[in-house]
Amino acid sequence: MTTLSPLPYETPTTADDLEVMREQLGRDMRGVVSIARRCSCGRPAVVRTAPRLEDGTPFPSSLYLTLPWLTLELSRLEATGLMAELTEQLAQDEALSSAYRAAHERYLARREELGDAEEVHHVSAGGMPTRVKCFHALAGQALAEGPGVNPIADLVLPRIDGAGELRCRCGDAPAEQAETR
Ligand SMILES: [Zn+2]
Repeated sequence: MTTLSPLPYETPTTADDLEVMREQLGRDMRGVVSIARRCSCGRPAVVRTAPRLEDGTPFPSSLYLTLPWLTLELSRLEATGLMAELTEQLAQDEALSSAYRAAHERYLARREELGDAEEVHHVSAGGMPTRVKCFHALAGQALAEGPGVNPIADLVLPRIDGAGELRCRCGDAPAEQAETR
């Protein structure tokens, strides 16, 4: 089993965080382990979840973006056809595709720190290792791990004002508009 350095921004979950995530998502966030990254205002931005929920359901997306304004911006970018463009780029650029594969392996190793769910053993998130299918999942990993880990998210996040450093835009988007995952 690979030993990884600790997630750089990870902090414990408070009762307030659970309440804020309920507002952000419009439902209870399940399987919460910790807050992997916070908005600059302190609200949860990426939540780290267990590979298996309390009821036994496997939950492969272990670095889950909860921040409504960023969720909305990423959905807008997904609607532009950028995912197909980047998938194409992966097929043609060997350095990019090997870095993306490394991000996939890291995603699995990171999740394995929390336990195993054999049904999703080789499944990471967001289309990794060969396709780009969900910017939210890729951004979740990139924001939790820091730059230089997920090369596709590192190309996508700079297109969104304030995303890289999570400058607070929590006043921007009403939660109900962000329910487009
Ligand atoms: Zn904020």
